[in-house]
This record gives sequence, C-alpha cells and structure tokens, in this order.
Amino acid sequence: MNHLTDETLNEYLDHELADRASAETHLAVCADCAARLAALQALFAELDSLPEEALSRDLAARITPRPSLPAALPRWLTLTATLQAALVVIAIIAAAPFAVDLVSPYLVTVQMPSLTEIVVQFQSQWTTWLDMLSTFRFPAMPQLPPLEISSLMLMIMLAGVSILWLVGNGLLLRKQA
Ligand SMILES: [Zn+2]
Repeated sequence: MNHLTDETLNEYLDHELADRASAETHLAVCADCAARLAALQALFAELDSLPEEALSRDLAARITPRPSLPAALPRWLTLTATLQAALVVIAIIAAAPFAVDLVSPYLVTVQMPSLTEIVVQFQSQWTTWLDMLSTFRFPAMPQLPPLEISSLMLMIMLAGVSILWLVGNGLLLRKQA
C-alpha cells in the first residue's frame, strides 16, 4: 500500500484534496500516516495561532486609545459649547434692561404693602375713573406703549436665544451621531 505523500497530507489538511475518501481510508488503517498527519496538523495549528495572536495584540495596542484621550472633549465641541454659552450670556445681558422695564411696575406695586397706601392708590384710581366717566375722555396711558415695545424686544431676544440654543444643540447632536 502506498503511503500518503506530504503534499497529499497538506492538501488533506487544507481541504483541497480531490480524493478525500481514499486518503481517509488509508489514514484509518495506517498509523504511520495518521501520526504524520497529526504532526502536520499540530504544526499548522501552531503556525496559524502564533502570528494571529501577535497581530491582534499589535492591532489592539494601536487601536486602544490612551487613557487620557477619552476624558478630553474634542476641540470643536469645546469651542462650540463655549461660543454657545457666550452668545446666551450676551443675549441675557442685552435682554436684561427690557426685562427690568417689564417687571419693575409690578415690583413697585409689590413694594407697597401698606394698607393706607393701597387705599390712597385705590382712591386716586377711583377718582381717575370718575374723572374719565364724567368727562368721557380716555386719559392717555403713557406707560403702555414703551411697555409693549419692551415686552416685544424681550420676546424677540428670548426667541433668538432659544433658536440659537436649538440650532447649536442640533449641530452638536448631528456631529456626535
Ligand atoms: Zn501510510
């Protein structure tokens, strides 16, 4: 009986042998060829595993980032966040006088809790109403127009801040995705 050649054994191990069945028949009865096959198999397994382990270890070392890197935010993210915060602060500072204008009348009212003062105010208000009723003349309301402008400006400012904020966050989310 002819023993299997080294080439045949290699092809058998690589699953490239055409007549696999007859090789298996010989291996089943020939301890010598079976031992050579086992030795080849062990050698190839060792050769296969060694470079792969070395390669994967090398790649892992290259891919794994340094521990300090993930903690630091990307430069563009820090810049965008800083710019966004600065814009919001500027908008709030710009809107603050209008907000004070808008709120101050109510603050003045709150700061007068004295009953007599309220009564005096009510009386003066009542006289104004009586005056108005008696003369059928609408008194001028000087406070209303500037208040209207202030609240409009404030709303525009707040809308601007909201839009800036939303656009900024949208950009951040899109860049992060
Ligand atoms: Zn043999």
